[in-house]
Amino acid sequence: MRVLVNDEISEEGIKLLKDAGFDVTVHHYDSDELKKIIKDFDAIIVRSATKVTKEIIEEGAKGKLKVIGRAGVGVDNIDVEAATKYKIMVVNSPTAATRSVAELTVAFAFALARDLVAANNELKSGKWTKKKHKGMVLEGKTWGLVGFGRIGREVARIALALGMNVIAYDAYVKVDMKGVTEAKSVEEVLKSADIVSVHVPLTEETRGLIGEKELRMMRKGAILINTARGGVIDEKALAKVIEEGHLRGAGLDVFEEEPPRPDNPLLKLKNVYVTPHIGANTVEAQEVAGKIIAEQVIKALKGEKPDFIVNREVLGSS
Ligand code: NAD
Repeated sequence: MRVLVNDEISEEGIKLLKDAGFDVTVHHYDSDELKKIIKDFDAIIVRSATKVTKEIIEEGAKGKLKVIGRAGVGVDNIDVEAATKYKIMVVNSPTAATRSVAELTVAFAFALARDLVAANNELKSGKWTKKKHKGMVLEGKTWGLVGFGRIGREVARIALALGMNVIAYDAYVKVDMKGVTEAKSVEEVLKSADIVSVHVPLTEETRGLIGEKELRMMRKGAILINTARGGVIDEKALAKVIEEGHLRGAGLDVFEEEPPRPDNPLLKLKNVYVTPHIGANTVEAQEVAGKIIAEQVIKALKGEKPDFIVNREVLGSS
């Protein structure tokens, strides 16, 4: 069987595929080339660079394409509907970035608690602003989590290890970790925490989940962090509430529009720390993603059930 690795994945992932007995081609074909050659492959592995369009899938379906593997989480670059129509399984590696995103979340908390970026920028512009930056210690404070899935849980583990109290709310799963208090609502988390981080997907239900009313429920001087998805927190409301001095600051890795427009008011605020969606961008996450996606593709091609199937509908019908 033939596997095409069209975007770069870790050496370990490629080795796993070869060791499993597959004929592996590591080469980046552009969209037009892919349309011509995809039918000769049983599986294609991509990251975000390759767009696996309906046209490519249709060509693959005329040949022997059975599996599309996405090394990473988001499948926006794959036409999952078309894949499902042709009974082509889409698999991904949603666990690869968990620790990386959790650590970035905690990095924002430390940085904001000590005005790290602001102090750095001031000193480099010639100002010795020692007295201005009165920090806050995390130990003994309360970390509030909105969403208690993979990343939320990992942040909880780190916060507990820092000697913090942890309170969490999840609409669908039970908060069952020793030492973590289960909240009955988002409001309860917002009202009781010094640091609030958001770890829910962007859905119809979570869009605007934290708006102006919710932001004002937060403790004065609290910190808000979003490393999940832009749109969960209302950006305009956040800028307003921060400008008014209600919060100590915010850390954002994700935006309603990416990249955010240069006139986005959040980019002008000294106590809003921003990063360009780098949560999963670590050496380790990329390595693990390669390994996990290889394992998923191997299972799928060998007729075993992969752990991370995006379009489960193909199971019943194939
Ligand atoms: P997950 O699916 O393991 O956890 C999400 C949790 O949110 C689930 O437990 C779910 O029950 C809960 N949830 C859903 N709707 C809710 C609601 N209305 N109220 C409260 N809880 C709700 O996902 P994860 O791996 O922990 O990822 C969390 C988020 O982080 C996702 O949005 C993901 O896209 C994002 N993410 C960002 C990056 C990055 O680069 N910054 C990388 C990976 C993941």
